[in-house]
Parts: sequence; structure tokens; C-alpha cells
Amino acid sequence: MRDNFDRRIDYLRLSVTDRCNLRCFYCSPGRDFVFIPPQEVLSYEEFLRLARVALEIGVTKFRITGGEPLVRKGLAGFIRSLVELKGTEDIALTTNGILLRDDLDSLWKAGLRRINISLDSLDPRVYGEITGGGDLQRVLDAIDGALEKGFSPVKVNAVLLKGKNDDPSPFVTLATEKPVHVRFIELMDFSPTREYFVSGREAMARLARFGKPEEAAAPQGAGPARYFTFPGMKGSIGFISPYSDHFCATCNRLRISAVGRLLPCLFSGWSVDLKKMLRSGIDDGSLKAALRDALSRKPRRREEAAAGARRNGLRTIGG
Ligand code: SAM
Repeated sequence: MRDNFDRRIDYLRLSVTDRCNLRCFYCSPGRDFVFIPPQEVLSYEEFLRLARVALEIGVTKFRITGGEPLVRKGLAGFIRSLVELKGTEDIALTTNGILLRDDLDSLWKAGLRRINISLDSLDPRVYGEITGGGDLQRVLDAIDGALEKGFSPVKVNAVLLKGKNDDPSPFVTLATEKPVHVRFIELMDFSPTREYFVSGREAMARLARFGKPEEAAAPQGAGPARYFTFPGMKGSIGFISPYSDHFCATCNRLRISAVGRLLPCLFSGWSVDLKKMLRSGIDDGSLKAALRDALSRKPRRREEAAAGARRNGLRTIGG
């Protein structure tokens, strides 16, 4: 599949739930969650049908996200079914890691090999403050468990927030000691938290004391990040900088929210209601046409995406 700007689109992100067991202040503004009624969320069967149809028109990679995907029952079984679909080449999971340690075995058996763990601070107090009470130790145990089990690459995603966790140094130590790939993601404009924005460049500038960074090869499934290593590092440090770097030119993805809305761009105000189509008995051909139509609306750059999706926090879209 190619979009109007000749980008190859082969990657579909599936947000399997809007529910989350953390309350990160920048992701869930106000921290007051109004959950979507379960019947409004796509069933695994519905996600699988969409995935099968997407595979038939050129998608080869999936990422499972949310909300927190591990709070949804039966996730490993769903991943196994995705792995078994004809044409699936790659599946990854994005999780906050809180429930991960206990699920590592079943996820591995289901065929999952790649995990991204969101972790914004290595200080237990700051982590608890950002996440609304999260237990850092559980996430650290999950990282160790994932590495022991052989998951690879294990990536850690950190959003640096001015005045909260804006010193990236502890993450450099983490990537020095363990073969994890830490990516600093610039805070995106989904909620009124711009005052916390730290650019990728600022973060990099603060790492001068670790020596001269060398540009590194990207680990599998690299996406829009640029990677570096510092002397003696087992893992790497990456930057995902939607604001200070323009990465839209290489965007390869579409996303489906928990309620079955397909967004051509993370910043899109426009989306198409696939759930309505699925539940009104649409045939595969028309579903493919709907996916292609959404693809044709993929904006060249995020600035050109219609406004509207930015106010609700990333949890509702699928991060
Ligand atoms: N619960 C899972 C997790 O924590 O990885 C998946 C969903 S969560 C929305 C995915 C990622 O989105 C997390 O790494 C989170 O830090 C990030 N995120 C949420 N709001 C964001 C924002 N405004 N800007 C940048 N990243 C954001």
C-alpha cells in the first residue's frame, strides 16, 4: 500500500482497550477516566477480521497498544491468533510493564518477541507522581524478566517532562548496564501540558558528560527514532522527536482505536468508524475500500492533519 505521498504503509497499530491501570498526568488529563462501555470496544474477533483484511492489502506488521493492553483479558490468545494470520511478519506490544512480569511466559508462548515498555522515571517517587501511584519496581522486574526470557529488542519509552524527570542521565545508565534501547519521546500536544515539553535536542545536550555519542544502527522495528550509543553501552539511546525533527516523511502506519475508529495519522481529527461497518455486515471488499480510502486521507505532515483529536489524551486514541 502506498499513500498519496508515496509512503509505503505496512504497519497497523491496534489499541485493544481504553482502560489503563496507571493515571499518567499528561496522558489522562485530569486523571478522571470515563471508560467506554465494553460493548463499544471491538471484540478480538473484530480486530482479527480487520487485521486479516489489512494483511490482504499490504500490512505486515502490528503493534498492540491501548490504554494498557495487558489489562484486557485474553491478550496472549489474541496475539497468538494474530501471529497465525497469513502474512503477519511482525508483532510488538507497547505496555506500561506493571502487569508484564506475570504475563511474559504466556506472551512468549503466543509468539510475541518484541516489547516496548513505557517508563518515564527511574526514581520511585517521581515515577509514582507522574503515573498517579505506579510501582516502579514492578516495571524494573518486568524489564529484567523480558531480557532473561529472550525478548528482543526490549525498548523503553520515556517522555521527558520539564521539572519532573527532565534529567535523561539515569536512562543512559540503564542502557549502559542492560541491553535495552531507551527512546526519548517528545511530549505531544494532546493535552494541556505543553509547559512540560523538553525537546530531543535539549535532552541530547544534557548527555554531554557521557562522552561523544555515536550514531547507531536501529534495533528491529525502529520506526521514526534516531539511535546513538555512548562508550561502553550495551543498549542504545534513541530520540523520537515529532516536533524538533520532521519524521512524517517516513511514516508507515495507520491506527485503529479501541472503539474501531481508523485514524490515518495520530494527529488526525478525521477518522472512519470501522465498528459501524463491521457490525452492519460489511463484506471484505468494502472493508478494504474503506481502509484504502482512509489511507488516501493520510496527511503529508502532522501539521496538515485536521485538528480535533488533540484534546482528549492519547489513551483514547491508542498510544
Ligand atoms: N499503556 C501502554 C503504555 O504505557 O505503553 C500503551 C498506551 S500509552 C498511551 C503509550 C505511550 O504513549 C506511553 O509511552 C506514553 O508515555 C505515551 N504518551 C501518552 N501521552 C503522550 C503525549 N502527550 N506525548 C507523548 N507521549 C505520550
